[in-house]
Amino acid sequence: MKHFILPAALILFNSAYAEGPGKKTQTDKTSKNKHIEMQQTQLSDNPLLADWTGLYGGLPPFDKVKVSDFKPAIEAAMAENLSEIDKIAKQTEAPTFANTIAAMERTGQKLQRIITLYGIWGSNLSTPEFQEVETEFEPKLAGLSDQISQNIALFKRIETVYLSPETKKLSAEQQRLCKIHYTNFVRSGAKLDAAKKNRLSEINQELAGFFTKFSQNLLSDESDLILVLNSKDELIGLPQSLIDGASNTAKAKLLDDKWVISNTRSSVDPFLTYSDRRDLREKAWKMFINRGDNGGEHDNNELITKILRLRSERAKLLGFETHAHWRLENTMAKTPQKAIELMESVWPAAIARVKEEVADMQTIADLVDMNIKIEPWDYRYYAEKVRKQRYDLDQNEVKQYFQLDKLREGMFWVAGELFGFSFTPLKNIPVYHPDVNVWEVKDKKTGRHIGLWYFDAYAREGKRSGAWMNAYRDQQRMDKEVTTIVSNNSNFVKGNPGEPVLISWDDASTLFHEFGHALHGLSSNVTYPTLSGTNVVRDYVEFPSQLLEHWLSTSEVLSKFALHYQTGKPIPSSLVERIEKASTFNEGFATTEYLSSALIDMKIHLADASNIDPDKFEKETLDALGMPKELVMRHRTPQFGHVFSGDGYSAGYYSYLWSDVLTADAYEAFVEGKGAYDKEVAQRLIKYVFSVGNTIDPEIGFKSFRGHDAQTDALMRKRGFPVKK
Ligand SMILES: [Zn+2]
Repeated sequence: MKHFILPAALILFNSAYAEGPGKKTQTDKTSKNKHIEMQQTQLSDNPLLADWTGLYGGLPPFDKVKVSDFKPAIEAAMAENLSEIDKIAKQTEAPTFANTIAAMERTGQKLQRIITLYGIWGSNLSTPEFQEVETEFEPKLAGLSDQISQNIALFKRIETVYLSPETKKLSAEQQRLCKIHYTNFVRSGAKLDAAKKNRLSEINQELAGFFTKFSQNLLSDESDLILVLNSKDELIGLPQSLIDGASNTAKAKLLDDKWVISNTRSSVDPFLTYSDRRDLREKAWKMFINRGDNGGEHDNNELITKILRLRSERAKLLGFETHAHWRLENTMAKTPQKAIELMESVWPAAIARVKEEVADMQTIADLVDMNIKIEPWDYRYYAEKVRKQRYDLDQNEVKQYFQLDKLREGMFWVAGELFGFSFTPLKNIPVYHPDVNVWEVKDKKTGRHIGLWYFDAYAREGKRSGAWMNAYRDQQRMDKEVTTIVSNNSNFVKGNPGEPVLISWDDASTLFHEFGHALHGLSSNVTYPTLSGTNVVRDYVEFPSQLLEHWLSTSEVLSKFALHYQTGKPIPSSLVERIEKASTFNEGFATTEYLSSALIDMKIHLADASNIDPDKFEKETLDALGMPKELVMRHRTPQFGHVFSGDGYSAGYYSYLWSDVLTADAYEAFVEGKGAYDKEVAQRLIKYVFSVGNTIDPEIGFKSFRGHDAQTDALMRKRGFPVKK
């Protein structure tokens, strides 16, 4: 529910959009030539501009790149992209699939490679120096994207191919590619008049700047604000692994003999779960939920107001009622109303469950002190006490069996059983940080190379919080077989050197989730890059990943890979039974914190955007929804990176629920068959879901796999909510 997927293509929509060169004003010819020569000497040494070389069809040159390389490389590659597009637009031959649509698929490849690395630096290695590059280039890249989608000659060619009767004779994949290019151009304003196109481009560039500022503000509050624990008194209740992590963080900040809780979810959530110090829990909670909302130079509220206003103006320019209507048009849900209907059908069951959960927690709190009334900083703490009391289940007990390395092996094993993949660790592959490891993925039976999987597991300064998947290179076979490179990134807290990293059940789920995205990328078997792997509609992309979460709790994985970190013994079946019994425990909390965020995201993009005060909007909307006061949104508006650090998940956070409807229903196909490892069901899943990318309509893909359209009953069962008859 929490995890981004970061297709590099999203940053630029698609490598294929740009416009003709020759736009730069020609000044003095001599000085221009000189400038070019100078640039060329420098550019020839720029590792970002070189093809990826080495094994596996080339590797990202992480060992050679310096931050100072980005600016000249992006500029050169942008110019090259524009000239490639110009060539297509200006050719005299009549438009055909080959000379227009397929040709566009070949453009911007250099820029795409550079933007991939630029995205990796921005998410994993951010520094003030790199942030300057982002601040400069985000608007420029948005401008480039507009220049391409607003190229009249190019659009005319695409439209001609799309509407041509000849197109009906192409393969299904080619026809879909035509449709997607055409639709993307129209959705980006290709049919607008010149004045409106200009305004649209201004808006996009301004938005790009605001998105960057939003993320940078958030990163500042996450890295600058900390909770310092000064004495052993302040550690009461914390498990040793958390204390060790906090001590290491303190040392890194040169605070000897102290402990530091960072302002990130992976540090704050466990602190809120275990700290017996109610006063400190309140402090930690307030620090975390006020990220981006602290006044001063890193406050995000004003930015949000501006973003919403610009998004609304853009939607109207493009002929849509609101930003949400524009965003939803090319999703499975299709309309905001449909998404809201789904969310509101689950909401009452979720908040009713919260009431029960709070009552259970209050009973326990009353035994300690009749004056305690459950507050949001108490929820995780008392929920843990209820979990212990009711299910005899202690998350710390579970954690002792959840070693990161072993669970990773467990994921590999699942991928072997279901997808027929094998994973071999590789040495001497360039990485951007020593913590990153690389594996080769092969077909288990034939030994055929499938792709590479990079894994960057640990939190560090300059890395954004959360977990995500990224495709460094998409699978395709337009001209030759190109294999994929994918990565999973997470923020586990490193323990002491040499000791295994123990992770919670939730973190293990997230690990499997992101690996699901990776498998989606690795399974891709398509011809054109635009349609490859995870390049599918937003409310479908979380389906493969959420589906994979289900395999964590299979007895096969638990008995083989959930091994005690000291004794090496597998997790006892009695503990597994207790985990199963507690599987829908605290689902009121989880669903409500998620859904409140998803509803706010949708409603704020449907509201009159002329002057929204985010804090006020959030409060009033939550009141109207009957949000229980004992918890908060998973992502409050000023820190809602999914929604305000880019357009990707805006009016799109509902996607996780939408996808989970598909997920729950799809998993029941295994249950109805021979179980989680039913090879025949797995084959169908790969055939219609994991391998097809965006080459078929997701609704058809799902139905072909499942035999019926997705139904919500399975979701309600999965979450332990009553199923409406
Ligand atoms: Zn995801």
